[in-house]
Amino acid sequence: MSAEDYYEVIDPRFGRLFSGSARVERLFTGCQWAEGPAWFGGGRYLVWSDIPANRMLRYDETDGSVSVFRQPSGNANGNTVDRQGRLITCEHGGRRVSRTEHDGTVITLADRFQGKKLNSPNDVVVKKSDDSIWFTDPTYGIDSDYEGNKAESEIGRSNVYRIDPLTGEVAAVITDMIKPNGLAFSLDETLLYVADTGRTHGAQHPAHIREFDVTGATVSGGRIFADATVGLFDGFRLDADGRIWTSAGDGIHCYDPDGALIGKVKVPEGVANCVFGGSKRNVLYICGTTSLYAVRLMVNGAETY
Ligand code: MG
Repeated sequence: MSAEDYYEVIDPRFGRLFSGSARVERLFTGCQWAEGPAWFGGGRYLVWSDIPANRMLRYDETDGSVSVFRQPSGNANGNTVDRQGRLITCEHGGRRVSRTEHDGTVITLADRFQGKKLNSPNDVVVKKSDDSIWFTDPTYGIDSDYEGNKAESEIGRSNVYRIDPLTGEVAAVITDMIKPNGLAFSLDETLLYVADTGRTHGAQHPAHIREFDVTGATVSGGRIFADATVGLFDGFRLDADGRIWTSAGDGIHCYDPDGALIGKVKVPEGVANCVFGGSKRNVLYICGTTSLYAVRLMVNGAETY
């Protein structure tokens, strides 16, 4: 295997991000649908979800071991770590966003909007400047019993929501997407990127990432940042220079902040999500269908907490 088997340079700017000696390693296999990686720097471990298997797994960087973190997991999907080091989880089965406290208890942060049950929270991010929690709520966890529990949507739409850090109130911040999915803030938190995977529900629907202008607790705009060229954009993370590293059908696609696709990390399975980890945040952990992969990059992930 040569370096070209692991990455593809589309724009010369990508060449400086990927070492010719780097390799994409498969760290674990045996998942049904790997998603939602979250990195715990202090513990040097990664937690991720195996949605249909109703479990969460933990990869220990110190010895390479993998163990069950939580089972059942409420068909957990997306995860993130807040600035206090607590795990925040989107649960399809529980139809809620939960937080795992420092003592291990799991509490509900949001399970309703205007009195109606959420669909099935998918992915979540914390805004550093005010500790608000932003999450997407498409229907994948209620469309069938495969990755949750089949049910009708009570809300009747798939929105993006914000949980107020002081009052806990859940507000709809984006209501014009088909299936909002992965999301992340720009480095200065003036932009919110949100993937729409509506294509899963019809060829006429989008497979793109949109870019919203953020003003406090609200957003505006929503221009298209990039259209997927292979498969769908599901989850994504930013590096310390503001590039977007997003899941796609053939691996990870790297976009410059100007919207140009500059390169790819090739993965032998469809990818759902990724996260930067390691003590220098320069290891990209990748959830690819059945397996957890990792590759060491020449760039560091954005500081998220
Ligand atoms: Mg997702």
